[in-house]
Amino acid sequence: MTIPTENVGSLPRPMSLQNAIAEYDAGNITQDELRTIQDEACRDSITRMEATGAPIVSDGEQRASSFATYPLADTLAGTGLADNLAGDGQYFAIFTDGHHRQLPRLTGGPFRYKTYAADYLKDSIKYATKPMKQAVIAPSMLSLLYPLDDEVEGYTRDQFLHDLCDEAEKDIRLAFEAGAKRVSIDFTEGRLACKNDPNNPWTGRNMLESFIELNNRVIDRFTPEERTNIGIHTCPGGDCDSTHSDEVDYAELLPHMFKMNAGYFLIQLASEKDKEYVYELCGKHSREDANGVAQVCFIGVIDPLNPVVETPEQVCNDLVTAAKYIPVERLGSTDDCGFSPFSIDVKPKHGSPDVARDIAFKKIESRVKGTAMASEQLRGTAAASTAG
Ligand SMILES: [Zn+2]
Repeated sequence: MTIPTENVGSLPRPMSLQNAIAEYDAGNITQDELRTIQDEACRDSITRMEATGAPIVSDGEQRASSFATYPLADTLAGTGLADNLAGDGQYFAIFTDGHHRQLPRLTGGPFRYKTYAADYLKDSIKYATKPMKQAVIAPSMLSLLYPLDDEVEGYTRDQFLHDLCDEAEKDIRLAFEAGAKRVSIDFTEGRLACKNDPNNPWTGRNMLESFIELNNRVIDRFTPEERTNIGIHTCPGGDCDSTHSDEVDYAELLPHMFKMNAGYFLIQLASEKDKEYVYELCGKHSREDANGVAQVCFIGVIDPLNPVVETPEQVCNDLVTAAKYIPVERLGSTDDCGFSPFSIDVKPKHGSPDVARDIAFKKIESRVKGTAMASEQLRGTAAASTAG
């Protein structure tokens, strides 16, 4: 048996690209000039990811302003902000190192994506010789565009959520149509929803259940065959080598998260203090039959926030241990998060984004090798695995 392995999506943008984004924001270079540099970063990302031996690759999200804001603006600074949005929305996360990231604010309807993930994929897939995956943002994250308590004049919350679900569905379908073999939905706000951060008003409001329901409104529009290739990514955040919710007990999140009828889950785990505890939760709460699809648990075996490269042996050991709790036929491996979900990220613990890129490819290579080792070791144990 072969254990599947897949990355989350992003890679650090080279410093030359981050500088070009700043030049574009300042009006010193044109969008076409920026695109040329983005194209080159995507080509380099795909070529180097393929060279790691990874069976499925991404373009490192080198064109995206961030994993969450790509539908809304050209850059993280807000250049090219979509219609009916203002820059001063709520925090979606405040990180433990003190920095924060902010969403735009909806000012009217209708809500439409300006850019779909497929728009970027179409430009990147020509560089790939292996299958590509595409990450998209969860509707639950974008639901935070609507003011928390106030009503947007002439556009009710229900109308907004209706439009949002249509756009999120379209984002996934277009990615498949553009050639993505798999599409994973970034759901970093799930774990954060279990935290009560007094500085971030939307947390601490028990929004997790409503997030799950909203995401299922979109996921349930797909057939079981389609949902086999639709995943969910959970993590405690990963930006500037910092997190936003790693103190939240996974027991608060996972029983709810697996209610989403997705076919696979990319779960941060390498940086957990007690991995076996989380493997057990995954084994217990993931479902053999989620409305017609078996849920595969891709456990995190690589920590993108830590410059120390994991060995293939470490990766293999994690998977063999996880197989004590998760049926081998529903086990996979992944990285804990994207390597740089936001376009502007100097990767402080790594020294520079260029060093962090080199390290990222070494880490991916370890994941690929270690997963192959575990596949070999676990060969024939599928029937003997003990779920739950
Ligand atoms: Zn993540």
